[in-house]
Amino acid sequence: MAEIIIDTYQCSGCETCVEMCPDIFRIDEATERAALITTSPVITDAVHQAAAFCPEKCIEVIE
Ligand code: SF4
Repeated sequence: MAEIIIDTYQCSGCETCVEMCPDIFRIDEATERAALITTSPVITDAVHQAAAFCPEKCIEVIE
């Protein structure tokens, strides 16, 4: 099953992933780190791009 794993320890909360892929990523208000909107995300090219552009390299996409 497709999965996106965010290493919230490494995440800086820069919001790059949210800007690139707002239907998948959000910023958790409590932690100020990235989180997923859905537990069963559809892995699109935009998801891969967001992972590639994450400055902390803390988004892992498993397909
Ligand atoms: S792009 Fe990476 S570091 Fe920035 S908020 Fe998203 S997961 Fe965190």
